[in-house]
Amino acid sequence: MYQPDIENMKLPEIRKLQSERFVKMVKYAYDNVPMYKKKFDEAGITPDDIQGLEDAHKVPFTVKDDLRQHYPYGIRAVPLEKIVRMHASSGTTGKPTVVTYTEQDMDTWTTLMARCYSSAGVVKGDIVQNCYGYGLFTGGLGFHYGAEKLGATVIPISTGNTKKQLMMLKDMQSTVIACTPSYALYLAEAAEKEGYNAKEDFNIKVGMFGAEPWSEEARKRIEDSLGIKAYDCFGMSELYGPGVAVECKEQNGLHIWSDEFLVETIDTDTGEVLPEGEKGELVFTMLTREAMPLLRYRTKDLAVINYEQCACGRSHPRIMRIKGRSDDMLIIGGVNVFPSQVEHVLMNIKGVGDQYLIIIDRDILDSMHVQVEVTPELFNSPDYDPAGFAKKLEGELQAVLTVRARIELMDPGTLPRSEGKAKRVHDKRKA
Ligand code: AMP
Ligand code: ZN
Repeated sequence: MYQPDIENMKLPEIRKLQSERFVKMVKYAYDNVPMYKKKFDEAGITPDDIQGLEDAHKVPFTVKDDLRQHYPYGIRAVPLEKIVRMHASSGTTGKPTVVTYTEQDMDTWTTLMARCYSSAGVVKGDIVQNCYGYGLFTGGLGFHYGAEKLGATVIPISTGNTKKQLMMLKDMQSTVIACTPSYALYLAEAAEKEGYNAKEDFNIKVGMFGAEPWSEEARKRIEDSLGIKAYDCFGMSELYGPGVAVECKEQNGLHIWSDEFLVETIDTDTGEVLPEGEKGELVFTMLTREAMPLLRYRTKDLAVINYEQCACGRSHPRIMRIKGRSDDMLIIGGVNVFPSQVEHVLMNIKGVGDQYLIIIDRDILDSMHVQVEVTPELFNSPDYDPAGFAKKLEGELQAVLTVRARIELMDPGTLPRSEGKAKRVHDKRKA
């Protein structure tokens, strides 16, 4: 463990620390961020009404739109001279949301990232090939500084240039790869095409994968093809960046670093706090953020939190995989469908490749159509029966989703590959 005294804290101790920090943070935000003073005034409360975690539900939520309204310099509790870093998330519409960091925030973030690496078994002496994008996106620099802090060697190769990535994996004998899971799948495929034997030519032991939802089936494919252990890492730019939660050796849920983050699960529609263990929208409060405090930030990410002690020794609660985002949920003919369900079904079927694209359209009724690549093995097999195989996929999808989806089988290598976050859905209704 990177910080055993913190990582080994028991739940009651964690709660006590969270409670103290929460009360302090509420007052700090109220005193230093006009937006919070206003929110509290409107809710008819003051920081004195917040005496501990039991009062958390009284604190008004913060939403993404609050951040957008603070463009360009972000929600800030400190003067600009104290800001040492800015990042921005690429808003698909309008202005990006800007996030700011003080020196102390940078230190916290870097430490949390070092903990994440360590939780996945990365140690000083490891060579980390960091293929997350460097720039305004928090992925690149987040994974970079955390690895350095741990004492590992970083190759800051950033995204893209897949042939060079493969060459470096071989020549540098990188032991850790950090990228999106969709890019890891692509790298494995490209390695084979370029004539590498990933398991023999490369020396990767650990993958640090995150920034987008992925399924257990995708994990298995990545682990098998590259011969590595694939760990799930979760974060978002509003909460420093990557480094909020990570899997441990158990690979059974992502520990949320709860000395720094308070998490609650709420009903997306009503905003009510849900009982422990129920699936809902994750709401985070950063407990020591200096530059940009966020109280009860609604993430739109849907998941279940597990508060049981983990076999690894840590009691920090675990996210049992992000199920998707409430705003990624597709409503097709009145039925809710998550892209992650489609991936789960498809990737379980032998002969299905790693790439798919969900296309939603509306003529009179909504229709769903999924383009799915087949594996080269199936494609080249004399027994390949496209019509029969498509029918089989349609049947399995309908059994799980309850909506009908037309399957269009694609030749291997024909769908677009992504270097960062994959685009798996094309909703023509929004065009
Ligand atoms: P960004 O602020 O651009 O880093 O995007 C953050 C969002 O990416 C989160 O709110 C999640 O929806 C998604 N995300 C990040 N990490 C993961 C992960 N490990 N699993 C699923 N979704 C993730
Ligand atoms: Zn654990």
